[in-house]
Amino acid sequence: MRARILRFWGAIGGRSPPAADTGKPTTVQMFSPLPPLADLHRHLDGSLRLETLTELAEQHRQVLPRDLMFRRGMGLDEALARFSVILSVLQQPAAVRRVASEICEDAAEDGVTTLEIRFAPQLHRGAKPAAIVDAALEGINRRAGLILCGLYGESPAVLTDLVELAATRTGVVGIDLAGGPASGHQWQLADYAAPFRRARELGIGRTVHAAEGRPAREIRDAIEQLHAQRIGHGTTLLDDPEVVDLVCQQEITIEACPTSNVHTGVIAQVADHPLPAWVEAGVRVCVCPDNTFLSDVTASEEHQRVAAIPAMNGTVLDQLIAWGHQGAFKRQ
Ligand SMILES: [Zn+2]
Repeated sequence: MRARILRFWGAIGGRSPPAADTGKPTTVQMFSPLPPLADLHRHLDGSLRLETLTELAEQHRQVLPRDLMFRRGMGLDEALARFSVILSVLQQPAAVRRVASEICEDAAEDGVTTLEIRFAPQLHRGAKPAAIVDAALEGINRRAGLILCGLYGESPAVLTDLVELAATRTGVVGIDLAGGPASGHQWQLADYAAPFRRARELGIGRTVHAAEGRPAREIRDAIEQLHAQRIGHGTTLLDDPEVVDLVCQQEITIEACPTSNVHTGVIAQVADHPLPAWVEAGVRVCVCPDNTFLSDVTASEEHQRVAAIPAMNGTVLDQLIAWGHQGAFKRQ
């Protein structure tokens, strides 16, 4: 378990804290008395252990590509493509159960006390979606909330089925719309309104990947049409002051994932993340790693990187962490 003591990076020969500007370890030394953390945005298939992935790949006689990990500026499409390699060895309920359990262990070790894990059960075809969801819940074993993801571009009927699955499983705390819109998609964001409305009726939480370098209008659509209570990424929020007002009025929590944003190229470096300006504008924000494996970042490291943004200070960091705990979905 992570010791709740001041850690002196570098001086004890451990890994130095990642710098805000490069995302790479530096020789900077700093104290890091992080309080218990919340992580509300962690994808199951992007957050498994390397050893587990290697073992599963061997079982499937699959050779892992050398360039599996995310890299700076790779773009969202290429980043999303990396998941297919992992998913190919993560089809069976047993693998889903194991990965879900290990993510909970790793998060606890990292000092995370409020955790939500998300995934798209329809991408795991080793069993029916209900059995895949149950496997994830068994692995989690009440240590985290589970969010089920519909995907931009797929039929809204898929999300409708996920909501009905969630209705009978209180361990599922929320739904999400993940991935990103593409020009060839038959379905647009508003087409998912019915399942999100049904989720609201059932007391299931709603979050949406929106404005990940795309127009801030997506955030308005997600709130007004999908009844989103949280927004994943939302990096362009400040482009539209009316959307900022809406986010503040409705007390929407933005799940900021700065390292992921650097990898998908929507910001050049963590230091450029608008997070401090959001806080200044009265927006509730929490800090999340998105994909601990693919982005090679833990929740505590992500918070350290945010703490290193020039406009940040300890008081604001504490506020971000508190918003993370407060923003967790609770089944009603
Ligand atoms: Zn995400």
